[in-house]
Amino acid sequence: TLIISGCSKKITQSSTAFSKENILERKVDSVLKLMTLAEKVGQLNQYNGFCDITGPTPKEGQAAKKYDDLKKGLVGSMLNVKGVKDVKALQKIAVEETRLGIPLLFGFDVIHGYKTISPIPLAESASWDMEAIRKSAAIAAEEAASVGLNWTFAPMVDIARDARWGRVMEGAGEDPYLGSKIAVARVKGFQGDDLAATNTILACAKHFAGYAFAEAGRDYNSVDVSETTLQNTIFPPFKAAVDAGVRTFMNSFNELNGIPATGNPFLQRQILKGDWKFDGFVVSDWGSINEMISHGYAKDNKQAAEIAINAGSDMDMESSAYVEHLVTLVREDKVKESLIDDATKRILKVKFELGLFDDPYKYCDETREKETVGKAEFQQGVLDIAKKSIVLLKNEKEVLPLKKSGQKIALIGALANDKTSPLGSWRIAADDNSAVSVLEGLQNYKGNQLTYAKGADVAVGRTQFIWETKINMTDKSGFAEAIAVAKQADVVVMVLGEHGLQSGEGRSRADLGLPGVQQELLEAIFKVNPNIVLVLNNGRPLAIPWAEEHIPGIVEAWQLGTQSGNAIAQVLYGDYNPSGKLPMTFPRNVGQVPIYYNYKNTGRPITNEPESVFWSHYIDEKNTPLYPFGYGLSYSKFEYFDLQLSNSSFSKSGKIEVSIKVKNSGRVTGKEVVQLYIRDLIGSITRPVQELKGFEMIELQPNETKKVTFTIDEKTIEFFTAKLKWEAEPGDFKVFIGGSSAKTIQGNFQYSN
Ligand code: BGC
Repeated sequence: TLIISGCSKKITQSSTAFSKENILERKVDSVLKLMTLAEKVGQLNQYNGFCDITGPTPKEGQAAKKYDDLKKGLVGSMLNVKGVKDVKALQKIAVEETRLGIPLLFGFDVIHGYKTISPIPLAESASWDMEAIRKSAAIAAEEAASVGLNWTFAPMVDIARDARWGRVMEGAGEDPYLGSKIAVARVKGFQGDDLAATNTILACAKHFAGYAFAEAGRDYNSVDVSETTLQNTIFPPFKAAVDAGVRTFMNSFNELNGIPATGNPFLQRQILKGDWKFDGFVVSDWGSINEMISHGYAKDNKQAAEIAINAGSDMDMESSAYVEHLVTLVREDKVKESLIDDATKRILKVKFELGLFDDPYKYCDETREKETVGKAEFQQGVLDIAKKSIVLLKNEKEVLPLKKSGQKIALIGALANDKTSPLGSWRIAADDNSAVSVLEGLQNYKGNQLTYAKGADVAVGRTQFIWETKINMTDKSGFAEAIAVAKQADVVVMVLGEHGLQSGEGRSRADLGLPGVQQELLEAIFKVNPNIVLVLNNGRPLAIPWAEEHIPGIVEAWQLGTQSGNAIAQVLYGDYNPSGKLPMTFPRNVGQVPIYYNYKNTGRPITNEPESVFWSHYIDEKNTPLYPFGYGLSYSKFEYFDLQLSNSSFSKSGKIEVSIKVKNSGRVTGKEVVQLYIRDLIGSITRPVQELKGFEMIELQPNETKKVTFTIDEKTIEFFTAKLKWEAEPGDFKVFIGGSSAKTIQGNFQYSN
């Protein structure tokens, strides 16, 4: 510490003539000058928490080696250490026992909350409410910062079109425009306006890039996509995160067009650090440097280190490749020391930005930790976003909202009485059984008679990475009781879907129906009482065509976090009018996947001749989705009319305005997300049939009408063209406005340059 504070003092004295950026650079350089090559490499090394640091010192094995490295200044960051006590103990070693005393970064997967859990990110994305999403990330940041952490490995901004992939729960869905807005909201939520504050943490845009395009939806699988798909679909949220000031990036497990993302200079050097001028640092994914051996891209860990650093991966998470081999690789002239310097400087810079050199223990305040974790204000915050995340998929026969008194309600399904599943995947620090269940949420409404029966189990996993079922998934012994309860009821609420640990990393599914015997349970109950409200709990779009055909009320309630049951009860009882819209298409059948709204036409557009077998279709399933992107109902009824364009064309640097009127012809006040889409009819590369280009949430009283206006300019219509650059191409366009991608009013305009 002495040396560091000494050097920052020197810098302060001579720095008045320099800009803030310049001062930072000089501070970083002054530290770099003091460092040996091994110490620089140490900054690029990240270890997983390797022992109980407040317990006995590890004497042998990996833990002892890591402990030793830490003392030698050969560790720059640690992950999965939590709690002020442990963080402080480790930071103390780094600061007091290493030669230079450079503080550590502490990273953790704070994906949708630390202990107070928000809805899974896919669910939050259904709110289309950027302020609520920002706030949710800010809550997560404040709570995480209070337990000693200064870096989250979030947001995951991978655009995902394949619901089989379990990690769709962690992202913002299928659309690059919505995904970009959400990426910005999350980065701003985590990092705040002031990184040096003690309630903000570093964000990390991941996984760069292409991870969600894994072949067949199987996690970690190969990815083969064109540069135009990368640019037009996959990159935009990453670029938006850079523009919003995200300080770190994580690369990805997958290979991309034959080159593992971790060893991919096109991604990391050319695009990220070159074209986008990203000046933070890139951390590898867990062990992904070493995984290049299995990919068949590196012969051993040493060669993997060489490839990764040359490609622009700055920090090695848990491969020990850098710490073991980079010094030798520099000596052997296989890696330029200037690359090590660059990576080290990026990491030091971020440490300065956090203020760790001024006070390495700034996140280590036990009183703050006690006062902050789980505080009441956070509970309100996560309840708010949970309600906003719910999507009403179907509501017929006035089954919803539920009447508040005089009703017999049957509540059925194991998930209705589960206090862990609603926490979803990636909630490592949260306690099991800490969520409000649907049963508890409904019990708060005392006017009705509520009876619960389990009916059937869903799979359970015990920990983040155990997905094996420990129970008999074919057991129907609970059916009889559930049927009896349903028979007596005026209305049946069934909570079915996936357990919180059936989606997430490593949890791809080949089937998208209701797991286990839940579909059979649903049909058995329907036979005795068809007045059913189906509440879905799931981490991905499900294919539930039977339910859509038969069940009068369907509510998409994802995994909503700590306040799940309260949010669901408030929506079911109409105390909150649902306003969510799907951020991802729901298929009818897993065979339609990947299915997404912004697809391209084939040379065989669907004709009006039903007998034609030669259009692009399945002979056993429709082309259309079960529920389209942007879809979601309300207890209000919204009518769209009077689409107006300020002009029928615009030219370079010009713009036009397009407006629509929306009326609430229902009986209650409600919120509606008005969506703007365009279609570029002819392009130098073929263009999607629809692309989201704007949205606005409005609130309307019964009978109220509002006019919503969007601006269309060159930015709206530009894309990565056949010339391999972003530009607006002249031509004819369609514009669509509506409350879902599938139900819009259309207009036309032209652009000339
Ligand atoms: C995941 C990352 C995560 C990392 C650290 C990996 O398995 O792919 O998203 O941040 O582990 O936990």
